[in-house]
Amino acid sequence: MPLLEVEGLKTHFFGKRSVTKAVDGVSFTLDHGEILGIVGESGSGKSVTSLSLMRLVDHPGRVVAGSIRFEGRDLLTLSREEMRKLRGRRMSMIFQEPGTSMNPVLTVGFQIGEAIRSHERVEPAEVRRRTMELMEMVGIPDAKQRLNQYPHQFSGGMLQRLMIAMGLALSPSLLIADEPVTALDVTIQAQILDLLKDLRDTTNAAVLLITHDMGVVAETCDRVVVMYLGAIVEEAPVETLFDDPKHPYTQGLLGSIPSIEEKVEWLQAIPGTIPNANEIPTGCRFSNRCPKVMDVCHTVDPALEFVGEGHRVACHLYTETEDRDV
Ligand code: ADP
Ligand code: MG
Repeated sequence: MPLLEVEGLKTHFFGKRSVTKAVDGVSFTLDHGEILGIVGESGSGKSVTSLSLMRLVDHPGRVVAGSIRFEGRDLLTLSREEMRKLRGRRMSMIFQEPGTSMNPVLTVGFQIGEAIRSHERVEPAEVRRRTMELMEMVGIPDAKQRLNQYPHQFSGGMLQRLMIAMGLALSPSLLIADEPVTALDVTIQAQILDLLKDLRDTTNAAVLLITHDMGVVAETCDRVVVMYLGAIVEEAPVETLFDDPKHPYTQGLLGSIPSIEEKVEWLQAIPGTIPNANEIPTGCRFSNRCPKVMDVCHTVDPALEFVGEGHRVACHLYTETEDRDV
């Protein structure tokens, strides 16, 4: 049984005049110890997907359909209290701006300790010992001195290491990392991604890695889902996605990886901009930007279908001709 099984998840935001279908029928699974990437442009619903898993979507947003099975339980049926216990203990989340999640007037040691104390009764000496162990685990030298320091005394990369330490304080089986390296410079990015892979190897925690950066995906993930406007358009093992991308959107994303010789703008290869999630085109949601668009694409929403082992794509280019009304 997979660690996490998301089925038909829909999370919508109810505005005064319109409904934003931020997540519009998303299904995927995640195994123990696996690093799954969710990739897509800004506004594709990656963050709302992860917040839905944590049940942290606020008004006017609401999960309106689907199920989220995690460690054998459907998270959408748990009480608030059961969910609070699960967060931190079994699943935790780190964000893009490591500094903003920390309290500037408390020492980092106190804050990591708090992640432990909030869920378990532990003697102060034991909290201190575990805090130092966690700091060492995420590669912060001189833990004994540094746990008495304040967040502003740490660099962005070190702060993200601290956030990861807090996230892993209670040995959860799932770590959700939403753009964890986006705010960091490139050399530090690589170090944090290496750390995530090392921690996966040592703890067997699964990682859901959310990013808009195909380079981050290539470096880190075992498997990838590509999201566009609230839906998964392609899913594949990472090598397959890079060797044989099927969806024109994925092909566009891959055509736009910045290389050293030539700094290519993100998504230069894909014309137009992502529509608002309250104006999803009928038929295929990518139809108004797709370079390979056909008549059927304007009327029929393509289902996510297998095209190879572990490789699924939602695109009429790969559906049987007799299904097409062209
Ligand atoms: P991503 O993380 O892929 O950049 P998000 O998941 O943040 O995208 O957003 C998906 C869609 O949901 C966007 O259209 C965004 O405007 C909308 N959305 C996100 N949060 C809210 C909110 N609190 N209220 C209304 N719409 C929201
Ligand atoms: Mg986001």
